[in-house]
Amino acid sequence: MGLLSTGHPLTWKESKPYIRQVKRKGIQQFIHLYHATRNRKDDCLRWGDEVEYTVLHVDKAKHKITLSLRAPEILAELQKQEHLQPEGSSVEVLWRPEYANWMVEGTPGVPYRCFAGDLELVEQNMMLRRLEIFSVLKKNEIVLSITAFPLLGCDEFTTPVEPVLGPAALSLYVPDAAINPHPRFPTLTRNIRHRRGRKVDIRRPVFPDQKTEKEFPVLPQGLASQNGHSDEINNHHVSVNHDAVAANSEVEEEDIILLEQLAKETTPDIYMDCMAFGMGCCCLQVTLQGKDMDESRYLYDQLAVFAPIMLALTAATPILKGYLLDTDSRWDVICGAVDDRTPEEMRNGPKKSRYDSIDLFVSSRKEMIPERYNDVEALLDEESYRTLIASGVDERLARHVAHLFIRDPLVIYEESMNVPDEQSTEHFENIQSTNWNTVRLKPPSLDSNAGWRTEFRPMEVQFTDFENAAFAVFTVLVSRVIIAFDLNFYIPISLVDRNMKAAQARDAVKQQKFYFRRNVFADNSHVPDRFKCACGRTHQARFSSSVQECCLSACSSCSDCELMTVDQIINGKSVDEPDSDHHSAFPGLISLIRGYLDAIELPPESAMKIGNYLDFISAKAKGELLTNASWIRKFVLHHESYRHDSVINDSICYDLLKAIHDINTGKRVEYELLGDFYHGKGDCNEVSAEMLQEMRTKVEKGPTLVASKD
Ligand code: ADP
Ligand code: MG
Ligand code: MG
Ligand code: MG
Ligand code: MG
Repeated sequence: MGLLSTGHPLTWKESKPYIRQVKRKGIQQFIHLYHATRNRKDDCLRWGDEVEYTVLHVDKAKHKITLSLRAPEILAELQKQEHLQPEGSSVEVLWRPEYANWMVEGTPGVPYRCFAGDLELVEQNMMLRRLEIFSVLKKNEIVLSITAFPLLGCDEFTTPVEPVLGPAALSLYVPDAAINPHPRFPTLTRNIRHRRGRKVDIRRPVFPDQKTEKEFPVLPQGLASQNGHSDEINNHHVSVNHDAVAANSEVEEEDIILLEQLAKETTPDIYMDCMAFGMGCCCLQVTLQGKDMDESRYLYDQLAVFAPIMLALTAATPILKGYLLDTDSRWDVICGAVDDRTPEEMRNGPKKSRYDSIDLFVSSRKEMIPERYNDVEALLDEESYRTLIASGVDERLARHVAHLFIRDPLVIYEESMNVPDEQSTEHFENIQSTNWNTVRLKPPSLDSNAGWRTEFRPMEVQFTDFENAAFAVFTVLVSRVIIAFDLNFYIPISLVDRNMKAAQARDAVKQQKFYFRRNVFADNSHVPDRFKCACGRTHQARFSSSVQECCLSACSSCSDCELMTVDQIINGKSVDEPDSDHHSAFPGLISLIRGYLDAIELPPESAMKIGNYLDFISAKAKGELLTNASWIRKFVLHHESYRHDSVINDSICYDLLKAIHDINTGKRVEYELLGDFYHGKGDCNEVSAEMLQEMRTKVEKGPTLVASKD
């Protein structure tokens, strides 16, 4: 979340007359930006991660952990340093608000640079973030980097306990008091519901254990146990209706009727009814600045194809709303949580929620992206498209933007309608920032010197700074080999969609296969000499052509992609691997990265640390280490109070989160999760802003992450 606009947000009904105007202004703003920055060249690599943290309240006596709703207070404390900072200087960590009042987001204070040594700063910076948060917590609070709180939406899952059925979300499970009070967030919540015409409706399959029920009550115990629960709803009915007059009374009426029906029902899947179930999940994101627009656009496409693989590797969400699920990841839950499509649109409109994988590749490299790869139906906002084309935006970028603009602006500020389009990107950002896809193309910013950037958004946040740093660094290195070796990951988008589904399946790393491109070398002349191919053959001199030969040998006439495991994609496979469908070898991304790191001549100490991250990811991909999700699942299945009914009680939740906390502090060693790669924090308390500044200066003498092309 970047900067938040301030002002008075309009209700959905009030917004309607402005929607077209906002879109027109947004398009004009993009066109100005595009013409001002399309020829911007030779930007350096800059990049940064975003980690979302969860603040928890611990009641040792009751053996109960709940979500602490103190994030806004905590954030204010954390931001003090930034606000006190004199103009022109910087802090080591930036803190930003997030959707739920149990979340805060931390990023490096200044983006990382092109120096290879900056890769070593990431984990340290993440440790510093944790120390900063800990310093402002109360005695009975802890902070964890977990994707989802297991008991989100269960009885009394927050501290303090707040009433449900608030007017913004109208949720049976999550109080409005859990929504960040900045007007953007409750307005988003309510306007999604009003645009959609009813509450969001998210279903997730429960893991079928020996004693798992076939049906689950919709009404939460807390409401059900108060005799005459319909009173609760009826009383609410009355209070909502006041509010509804200003908003959109028809919708409220419909929702109330639905609530009353649902309250009597049971469902075979877990039912979740509000935005917080998705947007209350935490993730790990990485933003990378390209050298120019074309590079960022190319990276956007490549990383979109790579997204499902990283979703599978980082899967960390096997529990939601108190149940063990049959899936491992948050992704589709968030898609449902902000799905604002009307019933008519569900039938005839956009095929996906505004939160989902991408629909269109955007690179203009015509030689690489045959149009058939853009094979899913992607509606365009016709007026926006015509305006973009008429103003000289190339066809593929025009389609990309016009596709973003099929979505309506959800939060319009009264104050924003009269700002000249050359001076603002607010309306463009309004639409852009509510298209939540696996990747985001960020144009240069008017108010910083940031250039064209690509944001990688699929990853679930991991328990430890070590893991988060490893995945962030790995993402950066994947982006480096894509660019240095001019790799080509293109496969049809429909298959990327299919991979996104596979990535969320239980134990996807071990159980699923993913479509991946068979020959990723777009132009083999860029492959460095020291490359070791996982095909088992030795490729010494002129190895690049032999890699290509061996990758293609058996199947030059087959289609572009085939099904591979995450292990094969990351670690490679040889021609004769028994599991190999089409008997073609694949080099594996890790060996490409190692080749790249050799080529840039990483100093030995750096090579050790980065090598350790790569070994860790390699072991994860092989299935030698458990994903966060598989580890959580295993913890639950072995917990003494688990009754094999898929139900997560307070005691399991407490022990699970306590265990994660102990892993983080190094008190608990989990070999199955982290292997030998992580040895506990140990010296974590040593990290300080001064240390980081010193390290930053030191690494400026080292190599850069710039490809050495022969
Ligand atoms: P959002 O939530 O919209 O993605 P944030 O401001 O929270 O935006 O995060 C932006 C990320 O981009 C941070 O990780 C930050 O370090 C990084 N970043 C900032 N400036 C640049 C830049 N010029 N190039 C690449 N990344 C950048
Ligand atoms: Mg965020
Ligand atoms: Mg952010
Ligand atoms: Mg954001
Ligand atoms: Mg982001």
